[in-house]
Amino acid sequence: MSTSEGIQANEPHAAIRLVTQIYVRLLLAGFALIPAYLIAYLFFFQDPALHFENHAFHEIAIAAATLEGLFVTYVTWRCYRSSGEPLLRWMTLGFFGFALIYALHGAFTGLAHHNIWLFLLYGPASRLVMSVLLLVGLLSYRQSPDPVNRRVGTRYWLAWVAAFLVVDLLVALLANSAIAGALGVRLSMEGGALVFSTLNVATLVLRRIRSPLMLIYGISVTWFALSSLSFILGRPWNHMWWLAHAIFAGGFFLLSYGVVQAFLTTRSFATIYSQEELSARLAEAMARTESALQELQRTNQKLEHLAATDPLTGAANRRSFIERVEAEIARAKRDGAPFSLLSLDLDNFKWINDSFGHQIGDKVLQGFVQTCLDAIRPYDGVARVGGEEFMVLLPQAGLDAALAIGERIRLAIASTPFAREIGRGVSITVSIGISQFGKDGNTIDTILHAADQRLYHAKRRGRNCVIAV
Ligand code: GH3
Ligand code: MG
Ligand code: MG
Repeated sequence: MSTSEGIQANEPHAAIRLVTQIYVRLLLAGFALIPAYLIAYLFFFQDPALHFENHAFHEIAIAAATLEGLFVTYVTWRCYRSSGEPLLRWMTLGFFGFALIYALHGAFTGLAHHNIWLFLLYGPASRLVMSVLLLVGLLSYRQSPDPVNRRVGTRYWLAWVAAFLVVDLLVALLANSAIAGALGVRLSMEGGALVFSTLNVATLVLRRIRSPLMLIYGISVTWFALSSLSFILGRPWNHMWWLAHAIFAGGFFLLSYGVVQAFLTTRSFATIYSQEELSARLAEAMARTESALQELQRTNQKLEHLAATDPLTGAANRRSFIERVEAEIARAKRDGAPFSLLSLDLDNFKWINDSFGHQIGDKVLQGFVQTCLDAIRPYDGVARVGGEEFMVLLPQAGLDAALAIGERIRLAIASTPFAREIGRGVSITVSIGISQFGKDGNTIDTILHAADQRLYHAKRRGRNCVIAV
């Protein structure tokens, strides 16, 4: 049974398939919403007195996040350079913007008590910028890749770096302005990040984008949305606030895992196939390989046959006959079984050609081989070793048995009219010389020579006879 048949035979029942598909979707949704359970837990059970204000820890965490953000930016950029997918271009920008803005949130940790807004606002700003850029990228999901000669270069990236620095500056101005503390400022930025991340999720669901990497993308942006929710519910240094950091980090880890998967495989987000697609493609490819292999085997057999066969008569050719005799010699040396050879030459064949034409001569040669085959045993072999010269190999036959078979061939030839299409047909005779392995020699040359000598002897004796000694 072939592998493709095996896969088909194990195809599960449609109802089971449906149930498992629904189960998998519920699992994914459940997994994507894990942060929501944690948020709910803290929302109801958090002790408002509990704070963890550790500046060094915060600085180290943000520095690590920034470095990771820059690294992921680089890997995403490499993927874009290779595949040209617009989504990857926007993701590169999203990660780059995030890293360049979020870094200041860490850098200003020490100002937490002097200028709380300078410290706090870079976080939501970085998440807002990233979620907007990711959404723009997602909307370009099925667009064709940027052509190689039109992939964006240094100037494009530098222009965006300048834009991110302007955002940094604007946030600084905002943080130092009178409205910095207004309730709406931080909330609208964080709320904006929440809205854009949620729009990302909605777009994925509505556009039914389900490739494995986009699934990772979907879970990541759900986590980004939930981290914004957690930031909105949190207060600086309390547990909800720290949880928000952790949720965001989890989403970022997951998304960067997807980016690295793309980098290590097709360098694209769109052409990573699902496992279902892969196994269907695999089954298809294996079926194709298998039929190609069978075709190859058939062709090989044909070639082998052609290489071993005389095209006119279908008898073995000289080369394959020699191979068979060599194998027979090896066997005879192993188990001492006798074997004999017949050397056959049609009598006065030139005269047949001269009288009836070359084509009729060919017919006679074909009929000769057929008559020989009818007269010998199934495991004996006929070979055409020259124009009208043939050899017959007789395994398990001593000289007496060979003489009887030779005689049978000679009589059959002499009594068969060949090329019956020309009236009463053509009569012909054959002369035969016989040799036996062991008795007449132990090598292929000596036994062939002995059979030929006896064939000449038969010719000299007047043709149409068999000579064995
Ligand atoms: P002898 O009894 O001495 O063997 O006489 P002969 O005429 O058979 O001897 P010779 O070997 O001189 O002639 C063989 C002839 O076989 C010559 C050649 O034209 C003919 N022949 C060789 N190959 C083919 C072939 O493929 N087709 C046909 N029609 N004739 C062939
Ligand atoms: Mg001849
Ligand atoms: Mg001849």
